[in-house]
Amino acid sequence: MTTDETQPTATRPGLPDDTDLAARARAALLACGADEAALAGDQPARTPITGGELARVTWATAAEVDDAVGRAVEAFATWRTTPAPVRGALVKRLGELLAEHKDDLAVLVSLEAGKTTSEARGEVQEMIDICDLAVGMSRQLYGRTMPSERPGHRLMETWHPLGVVGVISAFNFPVAVWSWNTAVALVCGDPVIWKPSEATPLSSLGAAALLDRAIADTGAPQHVSQLLLGGRDVGEALVDHPDVALLSATGSTRMGREVAPRVAGRFGRYLLELGGNNAAIVAPSADLDLAVRGIVFAAAGTAGQRCTTMRRVIAHSSVVDELVERVAAAYRTLAIGDPTTDGVLVGPLIGAPAYETMTAALTAATEQGGQIVCGGTRVLEDLAPDAYYVEPAVVRMPGQTAIVRQETFAPIVYVLAYEELDEAIALHNAVPHGLSSSIFTADQAEAERFLAADGSDCGISNVNIGTSGAEIGGAFGGEKETGGGRESGSDAWKAYMRRATNTVNYSGELPLAQGVEFA
Ligand code: NAD
Repeated sequence: MTTDETQPTATRPGLPDDTDLAARARAALLACGADEAALAGDQPARTPITGGELARVTWATAAEVDDAVGRAVEAFATWRTTPAPVRGALVKRLGELLAEHKDDLAVLVSLEAGKTTSEARGEVQEMIDICDLAVGMSRQLYGRTMPSERPGHRLMETWHPLGVVGVISAFNFPVAVWSWNTAVALVCGDPVIWKPSEATPLSSLGAAALLDRAIADTGAPQHVSQLLLGGRDVGEALVDHPDVALLSATGSTRMGREVAPRVAGRFGRYLLELGGNNAAIVAPSADLDLAVRGIVFAAAGTAGQRCTTMRRVIAHSSVVDELVERVAAAYRTLAIGDPTTDGVLVGPLIGAPAYETMTAALTAATEQGGQIVCGGTRVLEDLAPDAYYVEPAVVRMPGQTAIVRQETFAPIVYVLAYEELDEAIALHNAVPHGLSSSIFTADQAEAERFLAADGSDCGISNVNIGTSGAEIGGAFGGEKETGGGRESGSDAWKAYMRRATNTVNYSGELPLAQGVEFA
């Protein structure tokens, strides 16, 4: 695939055998406190590291969803009147257990999602961080008071627990996304039912086991947390259940397009975290050292399988050639292989369909006038024919063609050139998604323009850092086909609660609002 086969490539460590990986998964899972019986099922849990089997688990059926929702509704009756700071104590305990078992859970994330050990630990750290944030939040679920227009009246808003929250999650953040939802939902007084990705059952069993332990330790109602492993049918049953008050779904735009109308049709609430086609603008004044590092981490890290992965670079014509050369040079030094080995920076794709999608995208890019500068080749096939390791690709494009406008969930970064900032911003925004964005510039006016109302149209806009690696303190999510949802920090908690406006009359009279007379 590459036009440049002669360049030196990074070392590619050998791969572990399946028995070793299965033993590591089992040890990590049991250390988290999961029940051995969970591994006595008939559905294979696989690792993208070799394509081999790690364990067998049991999937729920769609029919079991109704029972789970019934149990959650019962738990809600107790949980919603439990004082929020007491609910916070459960989340505090979860955070402690996550810190204690950070490495165990990270092992499961690496084995199932193919993340490097450092990135997998980062994912668990993010879970600990959201627990900290949510514990603080449990004392800050503030409502406002407003001046009433009537004498002797008080006007205020109060926030109450919403009800059962259904969480559907994607393979690439197998535990963090659940924790963003769960830590906040729990302090808000809502029980959670989780349907994780089919590809990552062991990570979810590990995380759910830790929360079960926290529930037992703090005496919270048992069914404030339930895990339902399973396929799309289980997800659909959650989507359609009238007692699921909020459906929080993370995954592809295709999935969101199916889920949103179904939940809306029953007047449920939904929170969608869908795909992204994230870009960085690199201005003439940019510090290229910074830009190269930011691009390589955001575009090649996690093998291009983050929702916030950088998929487009829009670089000024005066810097684009040097930038491409330097990014390609950095790409050639990336160690690709077993993500649990020290020094490896790029692990496997999740599976064969992801590889096929990447190959098809590169073919389309070439047909649409693109030039593959480096990468795109499958490697380590001889060691593991059922695993899909690829060299991250850099592709120069003559314009923003159809393939550039779509999200390909693999490590391909398309590079476009621009002359004027307005043109760059227009190109930046001319894609269906609106998740994450960045500009590399030393010109403050350009940075401000990018962050302004007529700048980036994304939910996340950064200056002088890449598109991925958000902190949990801010609200996370994006616009357009990314779904419009916001999770984790800031006031994202409001999605998990219902607001009541209260007017209290202590005047002894009954004046009507707007001066209306009715007598
Ligand atoms: P996916 O859409 O294939 O699956 C996600 C989840 O949805 C799985 O649990 C799946 O079983 C379930 N599902 C699929 N169709 C469903 C339906 N009709 N009804 C109910 N449930 C259904 O996504 P994936 O391949 O696991 O993850 C990759 C995608 O997720 C990418 O597009 C990525 O950008 C996106 N993502 C977005 C965010 C974000 O926060 N915006 C975070 C992570 C991943």
